[in-house]
Amino acid sequence: MARLIFLGPPGAGKGTQAVVVATQLQLAHISTGDLLRAAVAQQSALGLEAQGYMSRGELVPDSLVLGLVRDRLQQPDTANGWILDGFPRNRSQAESLNALLAEIGQRIEQAVNLDVPDEVIVERMLARGRADDNESVIRRRLEVYREQTAPLIDFFRDRQQLLEIDGNAAVELVTERLVNALQVAAV
Ligand code: ADP
Repeated sequence: MARLIFLGPPGAGKGTQAVVVATQLQLAHISTGDLLRAAVAQQSALGLEAQGYMSRGELVPDSLVLGLVRDRLQQPDTANGWILDGFPRNRSQAESLNALLAEIGQRIEQAVNLDVPDEVIVERMLARGRADDNESVIRRRLEVYREQTAPLIDFFRDRQQLLEIDGNAAVELVTERLVNALQVAAV
């Protein structure tokens, strides 16, 4: 059962790859960034609370994000497996996720880390032009990534769940690397 975490710095292409791999392997794609942006667009209470953190490049409080993930993992399209894209993003989210999965009788199969050099990341994000993609916010998101999210690489390595993929290549080539590595790991 493919239950996957996609790690990697902002701009590494994990969102793009998560969509393609989820379609190919018929998994639910769960992006906390997308769920939060939808909440902001709807101006729901959660969206209003999340908005400021997102526009500054900070992490939204764990409790808000965890609630979104908990609801999403109960939906029927997750039965065949899922890809969590952008979650967990810090140690406490990783521990909460493990607790939540234990509660619902599931476990993470692999955590995929997409490796991309910093200069490529900033270039890609500036080209993308999302509302939170101006240079100072990008810098802050990279800092937050290094401080809070990058340590999860070791967290999953220690649990023998880490799959490292070189993400510095054309989209199609990265997809091929990913799908091949996931198939090998699944045997
Ligand atoms: P990127 O991968 O480019 O960083 P995302 O779409 O994953 O973009 O996230 C955009 C923003 O949404 C983050 O900068 C953060 O403010 C918020 N966010 C997304 N996921 C989480 C999470 N798991 N915990 C806290 N905040 C999050």
